[in-house]
Amino acid sequence: MCGIFGYVGEPIDVGAAVLDALRTLEYRGYDSWGVAVGVDGHLAMTKSPGKIAGASVDFPDSDIGFGHTRWATHGGVTEANAHPHLDCSGRVAVIHNGIIENFRSLRQEVEAKGHLLRSETDSEVIAHLIEDELASGSTPRQALESVFARLDGLGAVIVLDLATRTMVATKRTSPLVIGRNCSKVTVASDEIALAGHATEVHYLEDGEMALLTAGGVEIAGAGSPAWSTISVDQTRSGLNGFPDFMSKEMAEQPDVLERLVAEGAPQIETLATAIKESYGAYLIGCGTASYAALTGSYLFSRIAARHVNFAPGSEFKYYEHFLRHDSLA
Ligand code: GLU
Repeated sequence: MCGIFGYVGEPIDVGAAVLDALRTLEYRGYDSWGVAVGVDGHLAMTKSPGKIAGASVDFPDSDIGFGHTRWATHGGVTEANAHPHLDCSGRVAVIHNGIIENFRSLRQEVEAKGHLLRSETDSEVIAHLIEDELASGSTPRQALESVFARLDGLGAVIVLDLATRTMVATKRTSPLVIGRNCSKVTVASDEIALAGHATEVHYLEDGEMALLTAGGVEIAGAGSPAWSTISVDQTRSGLNGFPDFMSKEMAEQPDVLERLVAEGAPQIETLATAIKESYGAYLIGCGTASYAALTGSYLFSRIAARHVNFAPGSEFKYYEHFLRHDSLA
C-alpha cells in the first residue's frame, strides 16, 4: 500500500501542494516519500526515507508534479528506492502503488537492453519499459497501456511525461481517484488528498486510463466516467491536533463503532446470513487489520451463531484444502 498524489494545471508551488497532499495519505505508507516536479526542461526531484512530518521541499512554481509515500515491498527503505523512479533519459518519472509479480524477468529484459536501474524496487522497471515505448513512437497513453498489460499483480501507476507535460494513470484493484475543477486536474489514491483541489471526482475503474493535461482530463476505457461532487469531510482527514494518525484513530474508536452500529445494521445482517449459508467462513487480514479480523471472528461467531475462522493473510494458504466453492472468505 502507498499514497499517491499528482497535479497538472495552472502554475503553483506544486512541490508544497504535493507534500501537503502526501501528509493526508501517510496512513497508507510511511517509510519514505518522494516528490518530482517538472521545472523548465528537467524533472527536479526530492526523496527521503522517514516520515513527511516536518519535511519541506523547495521547487520553483510549476504546472506539473507528483509524489508518493511508500510502504516498501521490494528493496530496503532507502532514498534510492523511494519513488518516483526515472527512466534513463530523465524524460519520464513513475510512481507505483502495488507489487509487480514478474518484475525479475522484466528487469533482466531492460538491463539486457542497456538500461541503468538505480533502485532495488519492482516499480522502476515501469519507467524503463515506458522509455522504450516512447522511443518507438508511442504516445504516453499508448506506452502505459502496453506496459501495464505486461505487469502481473495488483497496482496503480502514474507516469509523468516531461516532454508533453502530461500524466497518465491507470490501475488494477488498487484505488485511484481523479479530481477536477476549472484550473487543474489531480489524481490520488484517496479522495481526502484532493480536498482543496477538486470540486468533482471520478473513481477510476480497472481498465480505464486517465490522461491529465493542463487543459483537463480525458478518461479512456470502460464507459462514460461517473463524475460526482467531492464529499471529503475535512474533519475526518488531517491530524486535527493529534500528534499522529495512530493516536487520532484510537481516540476516534468509540465514535466510529457507534456510527457503524447505527448505520451498518443491514450490512451486518447480510454478512451474518452469508456466514450461516457458507461452508466455513474465514476473516482474513494483514497487520492491524488482522486484529480487526480476529475481533470480527468473535463477534460474527456470536451474531451468526456459527464458528467463524480467522487467519492472518500470510497463513491463509494453510486452510486451502478446506475450501470449497461455497466457502466464504
Ligand atoms: N512495490 C513498490 C515498492 O516496494 C511499491 C510499494 C508501495 O505500494 O508503496 O517500492
